[in-house]
Amino acid sequence: MFHNIFTKIHAYFYPKQVDFSAIFDHIYVINLKRCLDRKTHTLREFARVGIKAYEFIEAVDKDDPEVEQWMQSGNVTSFPPCFRCGQNRCHCANNILISQQIGNWCSFIKVWKDMLDKNYDFCLICEDDLKFTHHFNESIQTLFSLESFEKYKINKHQPLLIRLGKGLEKAHKKKIFKKHYFTQDKTMSNPCFAINRAMAKLLLENAYKINHTSDVYIHEQIIQQHPEIQHFTAMPIPVSELSSCGKIKFYSEIRPKGIDVEDKIRQKNTLIRKEYKEIRCLSHPRCGSGYISFFLKQMGLDVGHENMGANGISSWMLTVKDTDYPWGDIGESKTAGGIHHYYFAHTIQVLRHPLSAIPSIILENQYSKDNASYLFRRKHLPHLTLPENAFGNNMIELAVKMYLAWNALINDQHPDFVFRIEYDQEKLAQFLLERQLIQDTLKDFNALRETKINTEKHYLGIKYEKPKLSKNDILNTLPTKTLQQLHQFCQQYGYVL
Ligand SMILES: [Zn+2]
Repeated sequence: MFHNIFTKIHAYFYPKQVDFSAIFDHIYVINLKRCLDRKTHTLREFARVGIKAYEFIEAVDKDDPEVEQWMQSGNVTSFPPCFRCGQNRCHCANNILISQQIGNWCSFIKVWKDMLDKNYDFCLICEDDLKFTHHFNESIQTLFSLESFEKYKINKHQPLLIRLGKGLEKAHKKKIFKKHYFTQDKTMSNPCFAINRAMAKLLLENAYKINHTSDVYIHEQIIQQHPEIQHFTAMPIPVSELSSCGKIKFYSEIRPKGIDVEDKIRQKNTLIRKEYKEIRCLSHPRCGSGYISFFLKQMGLDVGHENMGANGISSWMLTVKDTDYPWGDIGESKTAGGIHHYYFAHTIQVLRHPLSAIPSIILENQYSKDNASYLFRRKHLPHLTLPENAFGNNMIELAVKMYLAWNALINDQHPDFVFRIEYDQEKLAQFLLERQLIQDTLKDFNALRETKINTEKHYLGIKYEKPKLSKNDILNTLPTKTLQQLHQFCQQYGYVL
């Protein structure tokens, strides 16, 4: 028994000496410049097993222009569906490819290019969070020998991939293995794997589109696409890693796992998912955003008003992107696991006749809580150079200008359907049916058309009298240019002034 313990201790501190440079032409370690703790760790690990010659290759970070280029190229699979399971709605913790994952891809691409540029034949590629098991040297010496390559009929000129690393739950348990062998089991071996030149060439040639994470590409997809690849996994696994499972030592630089307080904050602030929603309805305030939500609910679609429903949302604020919306749960949702953005399959523009909308908009511009509604639109319509508040002599002109400009912002987003609350109930039902969002349209449209939602809105509990404005009161106040724009608008949307 003592002998056994001694053997284990000895094997851990004095691993079998291996001439790594005789086996590998080059050894790469992928390391982000800012991750000095990982670099220090790697230096220690390599010294421990006796690897002397290796190169740190600077990893590509998430905000690198190269990542941005990929993201804009159209060659990164976009949502929907989920890149993992192919569904629009799923429970995968991460359903979109994020910039950290693309950065990781770019780092591997950099290594493969370097291998080809420098004519290396056989290389070991490592990540900087690896942990060599106590049997690493034994495994390399046994499996990377001439006899072993002969035994497994390995042709060094054909594409070759040998997987060595994997997150091990119990890597710290020092068991001495007598037998080392290769299997065909596919494992996500990004922490450490060996490839030859032919494999690097193949990996590079096929890396023109990104539709999954790099590990799935390297260790699964390309093997399925190219049966000529000779691929093996060294058993027992000789290399573990320290940022996913088992003994976690480092923060994951790709997807934070929340291993301590600081990492939990990082995790909470990382975009990981998009939530698929059928519909978003955009409008100017006081123009039917509440009504459309009610109408769609009658049609069986849970589209919330200023709050996200199962099928989507109606919110005038969503017309613009902002990190701080004055009301509701609309922009993104933050969970402990990360940030979720929303994806909307269809956009509906909601319109109310301008002559009926203007008196309501005048009240909205003056009496919303903290004047947030007016100030929010003002912020997003800088080209109108609007006054700081909406009290004064030109309230009609101000309301018309904002109504037109806000609807122009919606029009710029190419809505799939324009819904005029006075007329288009049947047409919308037909649209929903054609897009297979509902199964039938058997509803009493006249009753629905006459339903009033939120027409007498209270501001902070007070009901203000809407200004009684005739058509001429409105039109005669407007400067010629605004009047022209209003006429054009009405022509475009089929409203009669
Ligand atoms: Zn999924």
